[in-house]
Amino acid sequence: MIKGETLLDLGQEWREFAACSDRTDDLFFPSNESDISMVRVAKAVCQSCPVQEECLQYSLATGQTEGIWGGLTSRERRVARRKRVSTIRRAS
Ligand code: SF4
Repeated sequence: MIKGETLLDLGQEWREFAACSDRTDDLFFPSNESDISMVRVAKAVCQSCPVQEECLQYSLATGQTEGIWGGLTSRERRVARRKRVSTIRRAS
């Protein structure tokens, strides 16, 4: 990762430990997330990442709409975000 960031710098100390921090390619920002082989490789890196949960929570909290974050594609994060909003609404 971590490219194309446009949002506020919110508590990103976890990035120091990101398994993708030395990658300079577009693996985590494929031009087409339907490219299953590329997505699988990125997700495999995420699975071994010590800050996967922090990465995912950051992406959800900051509304990252592109790329693979925390082992989820943009589509998977949209679903997770909807579930999160639904849970918050039920709790209030
Ligand atoms: S979970 Fe994946 S995208 Fe997030 S920091 Fe780790 S390797 Fe990078």
